[in-house]
Amino acid sequence: MLDINDELDALRGVGPSLSEKLSSQDIRKIEDLLFFLPIRYEDKTKLIKISDAIADQKNLTQGKVIDSKILFYGRRVLQVILDDGTERLKLRFFYFSNNQYKQLSYGKTVVCFGLLKKNGKNLEMIHPEYKILKDDETYRTEKTLSPIYQSINDVTKGRFRNLVKQATDILRNSKPSELIPNQILKEINLPDLSSSLIHLHCPPKTTSIKNIEDELAPYKERLSFEELLAYYMSLRKLKKLAEVTSASNLSKGQQGVENFIDSLEFTLTAAQMRVINDITDDLSKSQPMMRMLQGDVGSGKTIVAAIACLKAILNKKQAALMAPTELLATQHYESLSKLFKNYDVKISILTGSIKKPIREEIENSILAGEINLIIGTHALFQEGVTFNNLELIVIDEQHRFGVKQRVALREKGGSENKHAHQLIMSATPIPRTLAMAAYADLDTSIIDELPSGRKPIKTLIISNNKRDSVIERIKIACQNGQQAYWVCPLIDESENIEADSATKRYEDLLNKIKSIKIGLIHGRQKNLEKEKTMQLFKEGKIDLLVATTVIEVGVDVPNANMMIIENSERMGLSQLHQLRGRVGRGQKESHCILLYQLPLNSFAKERLSVLRDSNDGFHIAQKDLELRGPGEILGKKQTGLPNYRIADLSRDAYLMPKIQKSAEIMMKEFPENTNKIISRWLGPASVLGKV
Ligand code: ADP
Ligand code: MG
Repeated sequence: MLDINDELDALRGVGPSLSEKLSSQDIRKIEDLLFFLPIRYEDKTKLIKISDAIADQKNLTQGKVIDSKILFYGRRVLQVILDDGTERLKLRFFYFSNNQYKQLSYGKTVVCFGLLKKNGKNLEMIHPEYKILKDDETYRTEKTLSPIYQSINDVTKGRFRNLVKQATDILRNSKPSELIPNQILKEINLPDLSSSLIHLHCPPKTTSIKNIEDELAPYKERLSFEELLAYYMSLRKLKKLAEVTSASNLSKGQQGVENFIDSLEFTLTAAQMRVINDITDDLSKSQPMMRMLQGDVGSGKTIVAAIACLKAILNKKQAALMAPTELLATQHYESLSKLFKNYDVKISILTGSIKKPIREEIENSILAGEINLIIGTHALFQEGVTFNNLELIVIDEQHRFGVKQRVALREKGGSENKHAHQLIMSATPIPRTLAMAAYADLDTSIIDELPSGRKPIKTLIISNNKRDSVIERIKIACQNGQQAYWVCPLIDESENIEADSATKRYEDLLNKIKSIKIGLIHGRQKNLEKEKTMQLFKEGKIDLLVATTVIEVGVDVPNANMMIIENSERMGLSQLHQLRGRVGRGQKESHCILLYQLPLNSFAKERLSVLRDSNDGFHIAQKDLELRGPGEILGKKQTGLPNYRIADLSRDAYLMPKIQKSAEIMMKEFPENTNKIISRWLGPASVLGKV
């Protein structure tokens, strides 16, 4: 008998190629398939008359074809008219084969499911799903609501549903997979695992599409609870592990650090000094530092990181600084090289795009200990890189790194019982309750003031149809020696489409403003090209930089004091705040113009005005959570919270007190289940089994 802990290929119809496609979504075991929940549900339980179909909603209906033809409106359109005696329904297809056209012929009975549009008396569905019935076949409606899953590569819907069906059958028949002890289940008053999974994949007959969200909520909550519990327990274990792990004590070099601080061209803020003290205290202990540094954009975290690295280097150890993008890694490399130019520090950069021979050379000198400070992307922690005596790891802009990465990092550095110190930096402020859930393993320091002399950024919200006057304004400002960013919208997750729209805007601006120099930077360019453009912008040889959101983190050009953000209504507040933080870094007054597309609903208006009225990242992050509408996906990756499979901290944070309590009991009384739950949700993380 199969068990949900079995590998996926135990299911009928799963071969190597399908396994590989599914593993791209972390679906490796039957159980993983079950934790891949539907994103929504559709109602195909009732076949209704065309005249009863409801507009702006999906309907299942049927009729006889009374007309079918191909029209040419600039492009080919297949138009099919159905009639069921009550009303007529027009179906339109923009993509179709000749075969499809042939089959949808006069007299056939067609069942279709799609969004109904009503235009006066005209009823229409565009690209409905459909089935042509055989003579005297009657259509069998579904018995329950149909789950719809996010599509994976090119695994067809039918195939995926079949796998889920097999998995739920196994779940119904196999021994209980419950890992949360009864005692806790009773206490939290949530349904058990099996029934939760079954309800979510196969909603009961009595559930209607109207109240499905409410009816399924407890089952979803149950799964979120378990996932957050798994993460929380793993963080607690990481913390415990750190307490029994030793680290090099980096207490020497205090004088060197003080001299360095004195030699800076600016005075550190009191907040920066306080944080540096926290860090040097940690570094002089013999347990590894596990510290998170939060500070708003522009608060000066880089210099703090540099000082931590210097401390390690003065103790004759290696330090590594990891950034989320190559652009940011390069920038850190340049600014730290400059900072340390009078010091005996050998710095190197290692990113994915560095070619093999050079890469090997760098890897060799890292291994030999000739390099003191290594800056790079996650490529730093891939195979092939072995450090000589790495004792400090700094991670910049951590919102791209989750708990899993932190576990992996631990396994990489040091030896079994000895580890490098870790400093994790984030510009995305996280409200307290959420930080407790997501970063329970870390101590926290906060930089809560900006360097003096900064003028707050003035933010304006302007409609797209005033774009020309904005262009005029930029032109005049740039002619007067100012510099600006023009940020193109985040269209979807595709870098290509984003790059295209930026290129178009660039060409358009080139046409409209001839008197200034305009540059273009986007994610599809080669790194060398990006770096060259950035360099020219830094040197003032480019006045206006058209960019995609590649510049959203870390980019630091203090002379730039204007930013235009297109389609700002589509972005998350925290992301906009990050972007806006690219200006307001110098002594000049800065402006940020948020362009929006009409019509703007009142909700979107309120969101943007939060940004206009505040420059405080903590306040904005809080509002961002409060104003997040149901089902909203805007800037999810920007919230500073990890992406869980099922849980959403901004929705589920209220579970935290229960989770903490349950974690205590689990870890003390049910160590075996604790480990099983952790590996169910985080994968087999060997280190965590040891405490
Ligand atoms: P972030 O916290 O966003 O990473 P950065 O470290 O990039 O901020 O710092 C932003 C800018 O402020 C940089 O140009 C940096 O040199 C400058 N800076 C940092 N600390 C101070 C300070 N105490 N006084 C003046 N400027 C500072
Ligand atoms: Mg930074």
